Amino acid sequence: MNFDFEALRTNGIKINYLYVCERKLWLFDRGVQMESNSDKVILGKLLGEYSYPREETKEVLIDNLIKIDIVAEQEIREVKYSDRLSYAHKMQLLYYLYYLKKLGIEKKGVINYPKMRKKETVELTPEAEREIEMALIKIKEVLNMEKPPSVIKKPYCTKCAYYEFCFG
Ligand code: SF4
Repeated sequence: MNFDFEALRTNGIKINYLYVCERKLWLFDRGVQMESNSDKVILGKLLGEYSYPREETKEVLIDNLIKIDIVAEQEIREVKYSDRLSYAHKMQLLYYLYYLKKLGIEKKGVINYPKMRKKETVELTPEAEREIEMALIKIKEVLNMEKPPSVIKKPYCTKCAYYEFCFG
């Protein structure tokens, strides 16, 4: 497959949203950004602040596209509030690993759920790299749509910042 990373690279949250809901991805891309003040985002930041006080580097922003919570010597870490959307979290972190690899940096990834005292380790396998590339192609397809993808009800819609927009 002839894959053009430069043309398709995007920010980490869009990878996450692709796996949560394509409609959410489209709305977010069009500037309808309603989640920045949500309590959970703030709580997630607080948990990140207070649970790992000895880590050296936090909130590393690369190319204005990916923002890594914690960068340690062997690994990068993301801090999440709950594991309800754990697959989306995992794909977001794999994308960060993929992105770093393109920059010549190879690390492992860890997702921390401090509130649940749980962590998950992720590794960038060749299969995961292909999945990330397919996800980037899919994101472009979704964002090229003139109208948002249809509402498809999911168990977590009531917790989504766009709930009123979709169901109001
Ligand atoms: S409310 Fe449901 S359908 Fe609407 S954007 Fe959120 S997750 Fe998608």
